[in-house]
Amino acid sequence: MPWFIKQHTTLNPYISGMTPSKPTQTAPNSQPERTFTVLGATGSIGTQLLEILEQSPSLGRVRVLSANRRAECLAELANTHKPEILVLCDPSQKAILEQGLTYQPTILYGEEALEESSIYESDLVINALVGFSGFMPTVRAIRAGKTVALANKESLVVGGAWLSHELGGDFSRILPIDSEHSAMWQALQGEARNAIQKIIITASGGPFRQWSDSQMETITPGDALKHPNWSMGAKITIDSSTLMNKGLEMIEAHWLFGVPMDRIEPVVHPQSIIHSVIEFVDGSSKAQLGPPDMKVPILYALTAPHRVPYPNPTIDWQQAAQWTFEPVDHDRFPSIGLAIASQQTGGMAPAVLNAANEVAVARFLQESLSYKQIAQCVEAALDASMNEFTQSNVNDVDSYKDADNWARRYAKSWKA
Ligand code: NAD
Ligand code: MG
Repeated sequence: MPWFIKQHTTLNPYISGMTPSKPTQTAPNSQPERTFTVLGATGSIGTQLLEILEQSPSLGRVRVLSANRRAECLAELANTHKPEILVLCDPSQKAILEQGLTYQPTILYGEEALEESSIYESDLVINALVGFSGFMPTVRAIRAGKTVALANKESLVVGGAWLSHELGGDFSRILPIDSEHSAMWQALQGEARNAIQKIIITASGGPFRQWSDSQMETITPGDALKHPNWSMGAKITIDSSTLMNKGLEMIEAHWLFGVPMDRIEPVVHPQSIIHSVIEFVDGSSKAQLGPPDMKVPILYALTAPHRVPYPNPTIDWQQAAQWTFEPVDHDRFPSIGLAIASQQTGGMAPAVLNAANEVAVARFLQESLSYKQIAQCVEAALDASMNEFTQSNVNDVDSYKDADNWARRYAKSWKA
């Protein structure tokens, strides 16, 4: 942890759940307990969310938990949170899950079950899935009239147009968990959307910010998996290093806040303290600040527009520090430009970009593509898709599935 950040070690007894003698959890006439569905429970966001709920039981209780294939981890989380329903995508892990459980929940297996689980009864769906796998659960939850706390930015990148149509342009049922978008949301409290002049979205710049073009020829998966400020799942860590993540986040911000892409300005801020800035029409700007810690945006999505005490680290203002800013180098980091271009093209282009990127990142991690070939593969898929989806209907979910399938096949067989 950098020296200018203070780590709070004492938990507030009123939210910790560690001091059961304090009679603060439920007042006699309080609201019924809030319930949550957590999709992608075993991942980086999922486990941090569950830690928050464990430390602050007054926030509510988990009713549904899902994961892809880490059955042992899912069993452990389930034993702690005791959800009524468990969903595991990979049925071959059935025995591991069932042997690991200390109670008897309802268990469902397979992708269909994952999609279905997003509409089960609960007050809030938290979508912490990674990639396109998160899209259909978001679609199903939104169709069912639910509110979704969304870490899965790919849902908005792929199907922002569908969501906009379904939601009548009002994204208030989608609560951002991404730190930058949470920062924008926090800065926009009490402000009118038409008062936004510009959004400044900050990027750490990733581990290769200062690497020369020729050094970047040698990047290995191990190099790219070392993010300077954040500890995250593998896919987003690679996306952060290529700046594809920032491109995806610009599209995410465009849909969430209704701001055109050309008024969303990325800037590199290596310390990751200022999480984003809203510039207003009168020339004033508001930013949200804090040490890089995903528990802040996760917690805010659970409590907004209110705040509850939580022992997250804070900035130590008495320590000298420098917060710096620099423009994005589009030559060394072409992925961000590809994301912007795909959104400007519209239609199925962002879905093609997303799928090709998912495959290219996986191929890089398996060492079947070099680092620089990630962007080349995505660009080739976008170029090749130009005449593919001219008849696609953006209001039809199947169009996105077709585009995703096509781009995956293309990127899997792409050769430099
Ligand atoms: P992760 O890889 O750590 O976890 C992903 C979760 O999704 C796991 O529970 C896994 O079991 C599940 N999953 C993966 N593939 C699946 C599939 N095909 N079907 C069903 N389940 C599947 O990812 P993460 O870092 O927690 O990221 C989750 C989402 O949050 C991503 O969209 C990411 O961009 C976004 N996000 C993450 C962070 C972060 O700090 N990790 C920050 C901002 C946004
Ligand atoms: Mg982010």
